[in-house]
Amino acid sequence: MQKRLVILGAGESGMGAALLGKKEGYEVFVSSLQTIEMRYKQVLQQEDIAFEEDQHSIERLLKADLVMKSPGIPEDAPVVVKLREARIKVISEIEFASLHTHAMLIGITGSNGKTTVTSWIHYILQNAGIDAVLAGNIGDSFAKNVARKSNNCYVLELSSFQLDGIETFKPHIAVLTNITPDHLDRYHNQFESYIAAKFRIVKNQTQQDYFIYDADDPVINKWLSQHEIKSIKIPLSSKELSGNGAFLKDDELHIKINESHFTMAQDDIALKGIHNTKNAMAASAVAQLLKIRKQTIKESLQRFHGVEHRLERVINKNKVTYINDSKATNINATYYALDSVKADTIWIVGGVDKGNDYTELLPLVNEKVKAIVCLGVDNQKIINSFNNCVDTIVETRDMQEAVDQAFNLANPGDTVLLSPACASFDLFKNYEDRGNQFKEAVLKLK
Ligand code: ADP
Repeated sequence: MQKRLVILGAGESGMGAALLGKKEGYEVFVSSLQTIEMRYKQVLQQEDIAFEEDQHSIERLLKADLVMKSPGIPEDAPVVVKLREARIKVISEIEFASLHTHAMLIGITGSNGKTTVTSWIHYILQNAGIDAVLAGNIGDSFAKNVARKSNNCYVLELSSFQLDGIETFKPHIAVLTNITPDHLDRYHNQFESYIAAKFRIVKNQTQQDYFIYDADDPVINKWLSQHEIKSIKIPLSSKELSGNGAFLKDDELHIKINESHFTMAQDDIALKGIHNTKNAMAASAVAQLLKIRKQTIKESLQRFHGVEHRLERVINKNKVTYINDSKATNINATYYALDSVKADTIWIVGGVDKGNDYTELLPLVNEKVKAIVCLGVDNQKIINSFNNCVDTIVETRDMQEAVDQAFNLANPGDTVLLSPACASFDLFKNYEDRGNQFKEAVLKLK
């Protein structure tokens, strides 16, 4: 008899899983509590996949043999609780897709740097002529790619929500960039639960698999000191390491893996800032494990200019550099953005506060920031946090006003940095919209 697959949620993951389920011979039913986007509805109709929107018909869902839950739906959503009570297996789209491919899997997770590292690895692999597919939390979902055609290698960006629903999923190479408090609302404010979710990436790894991680990160180190993992560890550090790993020594990047030793001047890496040096270490460690030629790795580190909205250099106008770091939606990301810029910087900050503690930024703000332009519905916390160390703090209501104010405050040689440390939903559709509005406003300046 045909197995019944229920898909909860009809976004990118849900659609991917629906298409893959159909291809694999399941009887698929998509159930969404929201109205399904027209373009997705058309695909479901074309593919003859049954669906419902604006509701979950529990009776029908309880007949499922297997349920795929989209990452946006929390574990304590009533529908999930009911399915679990009925002992129906509920898995994530990443798990479901991995059950239907034998490809080599490279998985990247962390609080910050996931998209950059994932894209960088993919870029190196492409330069080496390896036909790898970029998927997961970036571009088309993993399941959609698996449904489309069979591939030999996937480079997967993985959020903690995607890792929450895995059971057997196992990347051959796992990368963990860092762990800082983020999305704690989904983990009942338990940092420990969020850490555990991130470490699920190594849960099914064996002695043949690799785990690349930032060994300077105290949270990662503490967890590793308390838990055994089976995979081969490849640490990354800004200090010299004795065994396998990647590190910095005398401004040189070193990657030592078994007998192979790769070096390169840190200055030659296209993306600047210590966080990007770490990202480069992670990407080149993966490349070295895959035995990619050193010359190809070197050229790929020299030529990769990053991903839009991540410390993206927009323009230099009247000798002022404008940088779009709209993707910095938490304190840690903004910390590295401020670390990478020069004094004097005019910093555009603010948005939806996710429980930010700004004290961590005080030394950098003291050293580099000459003026703050607040851009959010509620700026008071920012003003209270920095009014002792920055003389000029102005409040603005939209991006054009924020950019105009920054322009007026800037002198030749200064930098204007949009790095909000907050989510964007108060004034913008999402961080891309915020970054695009910044770029438009900057390009309009006289
Ligand atoms: P993610 O996909 O995890 O959100 P991104 O690669 O999109 O990460 O980068 C988001 C922001 O995080 C960037 O704008 C940058 O300021 C910061 N960032 C990038 N890499 C790192 C890193 N390794 N450590 C800390 N912060 C980083």
